[in-house]
Amino acid sequence: MKQAAITGEKKAALVDGAMLEPFDDWVLVKVHAAPMCTEYKRFLSGEPTDQLGHEAAGEVVGLAQPGRLRLGDRVVAMPLHGCGCCALCIAGDYIHCGNVITVGPGAQVVKGQATYAQYILKPDWLLPKIPDDVSYEMGALACCGLGASFGAMQLMEVDSFTTLLVTGAGPVGLGAVVNARYRGARVIVVESVPYRMALAQELGAEVVLPPEGAETLARIMALTGGRGVDCALDCSGTVGAQRLCIDAARRKGKVAFVGECMDDLPVKVSPDMIRKGLTLIGSWHYNLGDFEQLMQVIRHSPQAGKLITHRFAMSDIQGAFECSISRQSGKIILNPWS
Ligand SMILES: [Zn+2]
Ligand SMILES: [Zn+2]
Repeated sequence: MKQAAITGEKKAALVDGAMLEPFDDWVLVKVHAAPMCTEYKRFLSGEPTDQLGHEAAGEVVGLAQPGRLRLGDRVVAMPLHGCGCCALCIAGDYIHCGNVITVGPGAQVVKGQATYAQYILKPDWLLPKIPDDVSYEMGALACCGLGASFGAMQLMEVDSFTTLLVTGAGPVGLGAVVNARYRGARVIVVESVPYRMALAQELGAEVVLPPEGAETLARIMALTGGRGVDCALDCSGTVGAQRLCIDAARRKGKVAFVGECMDDLPVKVSPDMIRKGLTLIGSWHYNLGDFEQLMQVIRHSPQAGKLITHRFAMSDIQGAFECSISRQSGKIILNPWS
């Protein structure tokens, strides 16, 4: 089968990979839509790999044993996989499972995870079905495009009474605007790239501000009558924006982080949390039990389709990555079969 690989610094190409075989409850899925996500970081660093991608929608084409799926079922492949047995997995919070399986027969579980490929392997229970009236491309937004921010909004209970700050309007932050508008929230976005500022506005953000430190905070406070926002969601993964979320949130407000960051975030427990009464939430993905609700957003939000701004044949993986690093895009979808 064909799959994409990083072959050098800012260089990518199609390569031939070994065909995968279903085993136990691991299902063979033919990938029809593979959204691009954080893989551009590896394109920039140039470290060679043929294991790219963690988001996909596709068709069940191989089963090793009877289960809940049938050949031909259209499914979303949930990112990563948990053990399926622990309390977190059973509760639907599999993304936080501490016992992720990393090796299967012939190590193909590891190999079969990369979604920039014509086929993947995934456990039966992590392949929720796509409704008949939802395309593969739109279904694939139930991965990071809309899924990451959906989970955070469930935890923060964002609704029509909420003023929400979103920092970082890359594909995840833009998805946050779609989710928040679907819930009727008022949305303020902070973003620096003009293309993405304009797209955030088109998706329904009331105000889009550039990140300018104290000036940005002052403008957010002015927009909220000096109170601060009810909820804030960082999708940028930068310390400056994470700190802005904490400073811009009102007393007793909620802040969630979905943008990954390895740098130290300066938080003072007493003034920031105890006395201000803030709730800080780490959120990675969404509970599996929320899939049906997320599908409602995908089906009924008038803005959801606008999240997808570019489509590439996987044979043009070089062009697709160049588009991804340009930051002149929303979500980019790869077709592994062209
Ligand atoms: Zn588990
Ligand atoms: Zn992703």
